[in-house]
Amino acid sequence: MYLRKSRMDTDYEEISVEETLSRHRQILDKFCKEKKLNVVEVLEEVVSGESLSSRPKMMRLLELINTGMYDGVVCMDIERLSRGSSMESGYIMQVFQTNACRIITPGKTYDLQNESDEQFTDMKFMFSRYELKTITKRLVRGRNQSASEGKFMGSMAPYGYRTYKLPGEKGNSLRIEPEEAKVVQMIFDMYGQQGIGYNTIAYQLNQMHIPSRTGEWGQTSVANIINNEVYLGKIRWRREPVKRVVRDGMLAKKRILNEEYEVYEGRHEPIITEEQWSRAKAAQAKRYHPPTHKEWHLQNPFASILFCEKCGAVMKRKIPKKTRTCIAWYQCPTRGCDCKMIKCETVEDAIYDAMEEWLEEYIVQVNSEQEPTVDPVQSALDAVRGQLAQLQLQQEGICEYLEKGVYTIDMFTKRNASLSREISQLQRTEAELLQQQSDNNHQKKATSQIIPTTQHILENYPMLTVTEKNRLWKLVMKKATVYRSQDGELTLHIYPNLPK
Ligand SMILES: [Zn+2]
Repeated sequence: MYLRKSRMDTDYEEISVEETLSRHRQILDKFCKEKKLNVVEVLEEVVSGESLSSRPKMMRLLELINTGMYDGVVCMDIERLSRGSSMESGYIMQVFQTNACRIITPGKTYDLQNESDEQFTDMKFMFSRYELKTITKRLVRGRNQSASEGKFMGSMAPYGYRTYKLPGEKGNSLRIEPEEAKVVQMIFDMYGQQGIGYNTIAYQLNQMHIPSRTGEWGQTSVANIINNEVYLGKIRWRREPVKRVVRDGMLAKKRILNEEYEVYEGRHEPIITEEQWSRAKAAQAKRYHPPTHKEWHLQNPFASILFCEKCGAVMKRKIPKKTRTCIAWYQCPTRGCDCKMIKCETVEDAIYDAMEEWLEEYIVQVNSEQEPTVDPVQSALDAVRGQLAQLQLQQEGICEYLEKGVYTIDMFTKRNASLSREISQLQRTEAELLQQQSDNNHQKKATSQIIPTTQHILENYPMLTVTEKNRLWKLVMKKATVYRSQDGELTLHIYPNLPK
């Protein structure tokens, strides 16, 4: 039995982790008793980390499953197991699968070995999508409400503040931490008044031995302060994904798109004045800030699926040594091919846009393709089965004739032989039709899968790692081809991975 608090359980209810776990324990104990499940070990995750390594009981659980001695793991719902990055979820799923270990929840039992394709897909999507989408959706309304009421929604207070629970109501707000608040004001003045840049500010703070949240100050931690409306006494909302984007080294363009967050009047005291804020903003406008994301750490999200449209070679991702910009380019490796180099970012944007466009059209197309009311395979199958039933009746009939002496043994043998031939022929036809039907279903499923997978990529793109991007792109497209002519014109073709 694996017990773990989920973000959903306690965010808006004032229940402690222990209470949640003991409540879940009761439910599951009762469930196991009813189902006559023999629980040999109970693991309770008290810490609630996002990553696998910060969930010691989960690590232990996987260790135990890997011994191959367990039939299943009982938990409240599948989401308890899968939280975290989808790559880790994939790993967790694999451990369950290879050890033929079932996931048993009061709602449903998942058997990754034997379940139909459908359920397997179900699982896959629960693991990868549930976290990213459904939970967010479920939380959004409640959180919007709280944010618009000026409550602080984050898990960690910004530098300069500490969180505290609002007395007599749900939610948290921020309290000024005087020592840190002084540093915040100093940073705003250095930047806005004295015109010092992020890097230099960070350097000077470190020289003064002022610790930041992460120990040392850096360009990013200073920039984060200069750009945070929280110091004006405001609450910003829906900015979270943007932070993750920066950390994952996302393209600047997509970052700007996500920069549309909401700002509400907070319940906390401001640290700086409007004047300090606008001075900093003015200073910022004057400066050029190179993007802070580390693009050169990115690898190729289109590895092995991007080809030169002219000569068919796999496009190579390169960072030209001569330039000092660290911008990556795609280059056709074929000698003599006149395809010009193309910026990786350009290609990625173009493919993203193309897939978005394609998906929209494809959804319309799929919806307009009416399901035929009569399935020809099914009606053939019905007919064959009808004939089979009749022949079997006839066969019973001739047995009766034989018993009653209407048929001689010789007549019976002949008639029976011909009936048996007909029956086995029809049985073969039935088997063929069934095969055809399952192929058709398979194809239908493949068609319907490409839509959610593509949606998943597009919606979560900024949060995906390059490896994940590559894995998902490969799922939804067979390949993409690009070509850039001498006069700079870019051609792009995508080949969505549609079933034949
Ligand atoms: Zn080429």
